[in-house]
Amino acid sequence: MVYDLGSATTSGGVTVSDRIIIRNGIVVTMNDADDVHFGGTVVIDGDRIAHVGESDVPTDGAKVIDATDKIVMPGLVDFHYHTALGKGWSDQLPLWEYLQTCWYPMIRALDPESAYWAALASYSESIRCGVTAVNDMYRQLEALADAAEKIGIRAVLSNDVATDEHALDALADNEKAFREKNGAANGRVKVLIGIEWLPLASEQLLRDARALANDLGTGIHIHLNESLSEVEISKEMFGRRPTEVAYDCGILGPDCIAAHCVWLSDTEIALMRETHTHISHNPSSNAKLGNGVARLPEMLAAGLNVGLGHDAAECNNSRDMFEVMKFASLIHRAVRVDASLQQAPDVLRMATRNGARGLGIDAGELSPGKKADVIVVDTRSQMFTPLMPGSKDHVFSHLVFAANGSCVETVVIDGQVVYEDREFQTIDEDEVLAQANRAFRAVIERMEVPDLESVRRS
Ligand SMILES: [Zn+2]
Repeated sequence: MVYDLGSATTSGGVTVSDRIIIRNGIVVTMNDADDVHFGGTVVIDGDRIAHVGESDVPTDGAKVIDATDKIVMPGLVDFHYHTALGKGWSDQLPLWEYLQTCWYPMIRALDPESAYWAALASYSESIRCGVTAVNDMYRQLEALADAAEKIGIRAVLSNDVATDEHALDALADNEKAFREKNGAANGRVKVLIGIEWLPLASEQLLRDARALANDLGTGIHIHLNESLSEVEISKEMFGRRPTEVAYDCGILGPDCIAAHCVWLSDTEIALMRETHTHISHNPSSNAKLGNGVARLPEMLAAGLNVGLGHDAAECNNSRDMFEVMKFASLIHRAVRVDASLQQAPDVLRMATRNGARGLGIDAGELSPGKKADVIVVDTRSQMFTPLMPGSKDHVFSHLVFAANGSCVETVVIDGQVVYEDREFQTIDEDEVLAQANRAFRAVIERMEVPDLESVRRS
């Protein structure tokens, strides 16, 4: 290991308890019936939820969290994610120019140590905002896995694989990361095969990616149909639209997460449906980069499993999934002139169980037997005021339309309390922020940036 963990390893240690009882809360289960228990209890045994209900239980020997005036709910799943180092840098540019002059040069200059601190800075902001699982496509996966293990988040990792001339990752890098880190941290770390996007791929690379994923028994994470320019490039390079190329090369399937899918044709939606491909909808990233508004109502009407992602702090610039949830409703209501679209419980389901399902994580709802990925949200603020006692609709509405990530008070992942009363139990947060700043400056110094005019496309 090349990075110095420093004092971040010894910040008071991890709160470990086999049995945790969260009592007297507003328990939003996100189960099939959308049950909400007022004055409810959640019991965690090891890494699993043992009991959910309105009855109290004996507390002998357990760690007890009092959730009076608090919401207890499944952790949010960020379904399309990149660890980020360069937030707020060159963010005036449209997607193609941004990628060529900022994102790719930056991740080419990334070393394991920079990746480690960037990941801790990224994951810590996500956990603060109630995220318990991320679907992170980036580079230096071994360092990311170490960061995930350290902080306690559930991380599904994949490389930025492209054809060799782009000097990003190769399938061999992804295979190596899989063999070294898949299943690490008590199974919290999983490794998928990642494909950057079609403009940096070939049909042979896509076919090889599917063959490797099948050999390893893992899935695929790909950017697909993000921008109109991508659609045009796909037609030029491959003679057909992005989803058609991905379909023909075997990329799509029930183990594939396709991110963005903004400009899907009816045919492409049908291909997603036929293959049971999961979609990550990233409305705020799409808006910031000027990429458009995805056809979410049509995707949902077709029965596709759609989760939500923030994408990357470089193109968002926040990792707050509460903000993403609000966008995921409002943007569609605005462009369709239809306030009936994307009601709060549906949006919350996308941000929890839909994402968990797509990643093959046995979580996303509070039900006995599920993985214990649980967050506690404080309602004692203006965000949740007024709050009608016993009103489930009011709770859902506030969570999606009124709240932001600062309402999150405690985060439990895999049965481990990683963040309690707004304090990290696993990292020295000040050191993480200082090291991330230092890593950013070091990477900026190493970056080789092409001239903007030379990469500008008409
Ligand atoms: Zn992305």
